[in-house]
Amino acid sequence: MKTIALIAHDKKKTEMLEFVDHHKDVLSQYDLIATRTTGTLINEKFHLNVKTLMSGPLGGDQQIGALVATEKVDLVIFLRDPLTSQPHEPDITALLRICDVHNIPLATNRRSAHILVKWLVTEQNK
Ligand code: PGA
Repeated sequence: MKTIALIAHDKKKTEMLEFVDHHKDVLSQYDLIATRTTGTLINEKFHLNVKTLMSGPLGGDQQIGALVATEKVDLVIFLRDPLTSQPHEPDITALLRICDVHNIPLATNRRSAHILVKWLVTEQNK
């Protein structure tokens, strides 16, 4: 089973919940992992059994990066807040970089995320 990582910065968490609501039928067919708060919020609202890692500022982005580096994550949806400075900016940059190193599909905004989920569906139907 393929694994999707979900991360949303604080100002993007509502957007993430809307995104998950919209795509929950597709997402339910994957193993889902998330940074702590993002995953907890999703689990409170949906029956998706998201595995939570550490919170982003405490190392969650690095944990996801390590899983990307070891090819245990197949797709990353990272709803970033581009208008607020983040204390863990170096970890965020590292995660984006490691996705590029391993050629892992990565969406950093809602429309790209939507397109990637549509792509997942077309891949399933091949
Ligand atoms: P969180 O981490 O899901 O624990 O809030 C995300 C982040 O802010 O990087």
